[in-house]
Amino acid sequence: MKMRSVAVLAGSLLLFSHYATAGHTWNNYHWARTANPVPLKVVDSVSSDWQFELDTALDEWSKPTGGALDVFNFPIDSADDSNRARKQCKMTAGQMRVCNASYGFNGWLGLASIGLDSNGHIDRGTAKVNDSYSSYWADPDEKRHVMCQEIGHVFGLGHTSEDGSSQKTCMDYSQDPNSISPNQHDYDLLAAMYGHLDSYNSYDDGSSGGSGGGDGGDGDKPCNPNSPKCNPRDAGLGPNGIPPMGVRVHKGEFEEIWVASRPDGGLWIHHIRLVPDAFRIIK
Ligand SMILES: [Zn+2]
Ligand SMILES: [Zn+2]
Repeated sequence: MKMRSVAVLAGSLLLFSHYATAGHTWNNYHWARTANPVPLKVVDSVSSDWQFELDTALDEWSKPTGGALDVFNFPIDSADDSNRARKQCKMTAGQMRVCNASYGFNGWLGLASIGLDSNGHIDRGTAKVNDSYSSYWADPDEKRHVMCQEIGHVFGLGHTSEDGSSQKTCMDYSQDPNSISPNQHDYDLLAAMYGHLDSYNSYDDGSSGGSGGGDGGDGDKPCNPNSPKCNPRDAGLGPNGIPPMGVRVHKGEFEEIWVASRPDGGLWIHHIRLVPDAFRIIK
């Protein structure tokens, strides 16, 4: 088991270098789909404090400007925003879940997690914002900025700058009030990343409740426990549907990336937006 996960991880590092030329995307990760736009189901696990930011971000991401390809729309918005659901922020195969909760003083403001199936396509994702750092969220622009950015990561976008300079997009690390929405460059990147079509859908298109979990169940659909193929942790989800963080493969001034292997040959990849030093000390 140990050997296998090391091998998978080595493979993922090769994957990183292979896609290193893809600039500003998150290693060109994308959802597989046979047609655009993708009707990506979003599970709304945010409290009323964050409803405006979530709705605004989804609206902005689904309405590209400047003639860019329309990649996403969000037709079904199921709500699951009990305290427990928000705190767990369970992965659901084929869908994106967006959550806020007090996750503790763990160093991160935002955490975007994506699952990659064994073909390297995104097959589920969560975007979380951490209410524990409430003083940071006193700035309403930063609420929009971080919410917009974590959702952008779940589409496969990276950062347009990692030095804190403003690029007038929510995908930067500045605190520029103009950096609260996607910009034209983001829409153009999405159009480029999603300009091709794939041979299957990795999002939940209603046919089988989502793909990519392997054939033994994916952690949110129980399988027959008497079947030798049944493995409720097939996609490597931990207890409560939460993926393991794995190992840190990148650390920058503002962000970290963590990777864990999935037993089905896929990966979990996590993008952490770190808390600025000024907000770290908690009294
Ligand atoms: Zn593809
Ligand atoms: Zn980020």
